[in-house]
Amino acid sequence: MTVKPILIHPDPRLKKACAPITVFDKNLAQLADDMLETMYDAPGVGLAAPQVGVLTRMFVMDCVKEEGGTPEPMALINPKVVWESEERNVYEEGCLSIPGQYADVERPKMVRVTWQDVNGVAQEQEFDELWATCAQHEIDHLDGTLFIDHLKPMKRQMITRKMQKYKRELARE
Ligand code: ZN
Repeated sequence: MTVKPILIHPDPRLKKACAPITVFDKNLAQLADDMLETMYDAPGVGLAAPQVGVLTRMFVMDCVKEEGGTPEPMALINPKVVWESEERNVYEEGCLSIPGQYADVERPKMVRVTWQDVNGVAQEQEFDELWATCAQHEIDHLDGTLFIDHLKPMKRQMITRKMQKYKRELARE
């Protein structure tokens, strides 16, 4: 397994609509493993393929946060939200592509999601709380939407400017 470099906002590849996955082969399973490794290494609870520069519709997540909890790694391919609750929830979100920046985002509290696993087998599950927020955040990535796109323009611009400065500093090192 390989830890891949994570793209940092602003990057044009994070703003693209990603293509559906049609081939379920060894390379796809390898990418899923690499993305999980990269997510755990960061560490984070979710990572979408465009964040490692692969513009296809897949993400990985594991929202088990308790110390010593049993990991529940998931790889979701071609995911779709097919139902969302009217009840909404606010979570302070962050993003591995926007390091160090956090903000409250309101989303449906529960969602039902369909997807394919790495073997192409159809799956369906309802997610709640952090799992629901994470799934929606990651599916957003596949359409080129970042969590800061849910914020007021002023706040979004402030975070983007901080990230531009951060990237200039990284480039200088
Ligand atoms: Zn993200």
